[in-house]
Amino acid sequence: MVDTILEVDDLKTHFFLDEGVLKALDGVSFHIGKQETLGVIGESGCGKSVTARSILRIVPSPGQTVGGTAKLFSDGGASRDLLKLKPTGEEIRAIRGKEISMIFQEPMTSLSPVHTVGDQIEEAILIHKTQDKKEAHQFALDMLDRVGIPNPKDLSKAYPFQLSGGMRQRVMIAIALSCNPKLLLADEPTTALDVTVQAQILELMKELQQELGMSIMFITHDLGVIAEVADRVAVMYLGRVVESAPVKELFRNPLHPYTVNLLKSIPRVGRGRGKKLQTIQGTVPIPINLPQCCPFMARCEQAMPGVCDKAVPALEQVAENHSVRCYLHHENNEVAST
Ligand code: SF4
Repeated sequence: MVDTILEVDDLKTHFFLDEGVLKALDGVSFHIGKQETLGVIGESGCGKSVTARSILRIVPSPGQTVGGTAKLFSDGGASRDLLKLKPTGEEIRAIRGKEISMIFQEPMTSLSPVHTVGDQIEEAILIHKTQDKKEAHQFALDMLDRVGIPNPKDLSKAYPFQLSGGMRQRVMIAIALSCNPKLLLADEPTTALDVTVQAQILELMKELQQELGMSIMFITHDLGVIAEVADRVAVMYLGRVVESAPVKELFRNPLHPYTVNLLKSIPRVGRGRGKKLQTIQGTVPIPINLPQCCPFMARCEQAMPGVCDKAVPALEQVAENHSVRCYLHHENNEVAST
């Protein structure tokens, strides 16, 4: 499996609350190939960010990863299960920032307000690349230049609040890429930006991906962005992957009723003029004490009583590289287990 960089299988992360056990992830499985971009989409609360945090072992308390595997493959094909590593241990700290980096959702709250952007980039370089402060400083300036920051020397002395949103996001990318990671977990990196800056950042990420040969897990709820950046897509709903397929196949032939409705709810210029925009009825339930049925059943117009309410459908391959978690597309509609 040398072509795979990360293989996640049956990942379960739960939050132990006074109200009960909130199953944020309840059996997430996917893989990311070398130099591939996997787009992960779904509504807020479906588990996209928790998946990235579980892989890096930075799930906030009272969350705990309670099951599954997340194997990180080396070039020789050997693998390490990240979920077996101690969240505060040396081994995972050597991987974070070096082999796997993360761009967080909101740069204003992710960057330290009391350190200059230059110091924040140098920190990762000093931990993973060189102990020489001068060399680290030069690396930091090179990184700022690479992500398109004008006049890196002066801007490296600025604090995050002195920069625009687009600049701060570029600084986040510079920090994440400063040690040439093999895998980048990008958690909604363009959500807070206006569309022109968003287009520039996406272009920049594509260029750096080619230059550095890295893989990307791109988390977003924006299907337009997914169409732009992803090779393959995993659609998440209530802590599970409900459909995965190459990006063109998913847009051309969506199978899961949730994916079908997500795609129908994209506004298109000139189409459906004067009609109401299509929405998905209902809301995502809170994943505490959910019944063992299809998690989408309460919102699904094609639900089959007596089938969909018996057990959670398994994620089954229905065509080459196309898997779906729905009884409508399983060989026989018989009840399957997770
Ligand atoms: Fe709808 Fe049934 Fe498919 Fe679930 S399994 S998405 S309820 S048809």
